[in-house]
Amino acid sequence: MQRTTATDLVVVGAGTAGLPAAIEAAAHGLKVTVIEKADRVGGTLWRSWAQLSAGGTSLQRAKGIRDSPDLHFDDVMRISRNTADPELVRLAVDHAPATVEWLLAQGFDMHPDAPAVLHFHEPYLLPRTYWGRNAGRSVLEVLVPAFEKACGGSVTLELGAELTAFRTAERGRVAGVTIRDADGAFRDVDAAAVILTSGGYAGNPELFPRLTSGAPLAGPASPGAEGSGILAAVAAGGRVRGQERFLPTYGGVLRPGSTWETVGLDDYPALTPQSRAPWEIHVNARGERFVAEDAPSVDDRENALLAQPELKFWVVYDAAIRRSAPALFPTWDDADLDRAFQGGHPSFAVAGDLATLAQAAGIDPGGLAATVAAYNAAVASGRDAFGRACLPAPIAEPPFYAVLNHGTTLKSPAGLAVDGRLRVLGPDGPFENLWAAGEVIGGSTLSGKSFVSGMSVTPALGFGRMLGRRAAGASTEPGSM
Ligand SMILES: Cc1cc2nc3c(=O)[nH]c(=O)nc-3n(C[C@H](O)[C@H](O)[C@H](O)COP(=O)(O)OP(=O)(O)OC[C@H]3O[C@@H](n4cnc5c(N)ncnc54)[C@H](O)[C@@H]3O)c2cc1C
Repeated sequence: MQRTTATDLVVVGAGTAGLPAAIEAAAHGLKVTVIEKADRVGGTLWRSWAQLSAGGTSLQRAKGIRDSPDLHFDDVMRISRNTADPELVRLAVDHAPATVEWLLAQGFDMHPDAPAVLHFHEPYLLPRTYWGRNAGRSVLEVLVPAFEKACGGSVTLELGAELTAFRTAERGRVAGVTIRDADGAFRDVDAAAVILTSGGYAGNPELFPRLTSGAPLAGPASPGAEGSGILAAVAAGGRVRGQERFLPTYGGVLRPGSTWETVGLDDYPALTPQSRAPWEIHVNARGERFVAEDAPSVDDRENALLAQPELKFWVVYDAAIRRSAPALFPTWDDADLDRAFQGGHPSFAVAGDLATLAQAAGIDPGGLAATVAAYNAAVASGRDAFGRACLPAPIAEPPFYAVLNHGTTLKSPAGLAVDGRLRVLGPDGPFENLWAAGEVIGGSTLSGKSFVSGMSVTPALGFGRMLGRRAAGASTEPGSM
């Protein structure tokens, strides 16, 4: 027979949003049960760069940067071309400075160069991106001790336990959740409220195209990002939005042996022209270039990639470029590259002539030959059909190299529809006692069809804290409870 336990609040998923939710709820007197399907807490923070963004912080003031939530809001809407959800962006940017100050007050190991304007995503107009010296682990260094302390009190953590269903009560409310615990036993947990912080689906190659208008998945997401929380909410009457707001990150190489998982983000090739001017060309499966490789707007490059077959492109270069250019893979040494090209890695091809290279890589040989000839003519004349300004050398000296890259996904774009108070929307309006935060509400909700620096981790932390307080009825924010 199925056992039942009872608690004030269930938090589903002990990651970026779930940990602060549980910490705050416990600090405000609630008995909290945290359900985490992995065998450790932390979620995507183990992999994330966890860059944060906030306008109007003490760190900005100390550096003479005049910023505010209003300017941050305008910049998010500009970068996203108004495709982000304005109501939730407003909520996020208003709470972002308090999130950064809270981390600092807990001893967060802030990188001394922060805040800065970074270029991996389309840049903000002001220095407003922050990051820890140890990326996502710096955030965990703050969250985990506070969470462990709470576990000594009113928080119960169930590791290896998975939410399998919501239990609906009368119209518009949930009665709790059904879980499969670490022993494989199913159990009901009664709760006055549930906060769903189970993350996205960017670690689930089957579900990804279903929820993302058919887009293929390639990326370095956490294996826990399977989307089961989203599916459970849909089974309870929730709905998914944001399916059409997919934009790939420009580049990333698969792990050998995987059809979708890429190497870690730190090991991606250096394709950001502000950090490393390109010496190579980028071609699609037809062997055609499709963008100026040094286009300063990453949004332009990402949108150009979106139109390419299977979101694949090859970075093509020659022996002279390999010898002379700054490293394409900054974290790899020459021996790593040699191993990859000599058969150690299916995404890497090398050959003594372009036709053999094209065949080995899976590129159309005629297309590649014509493209390289046109590019070499552009290098000679200084005039490129795509307007590329950086034309350091022709591609002429064998051996020739091609590295298959993908349009990759760091966060899943679609997610559960919520209202302005982060209540999950059901068929008849919001569930009164079921809230959601983090990537489960869709990565595009706060970034639209673009990438806006820090607009996943900062709101995950900030909304998680807000909901923990809200569940305890202790929130002082406008529009709460
Ligand atoms: C490599 C990489 C770099 C990134 N860099 C940045 C960045 O610099 N800035 C930024 O803003 N964003 C970044 N992101 C995105 C950002 O890190 C994530 O969107 C965010 O951390 C997700 O937080 P979350 O709380 O929603 O999910 P998570 O932190 O993934 O937590 C979800 C938790 O729920 C658990 N779970 C899942 N399903 C269930 C279930 N059914 N039952 C119980 N538990 C469940 C999971 O195991 C996990 O522990 C990056 C992402 C990646 C992959």
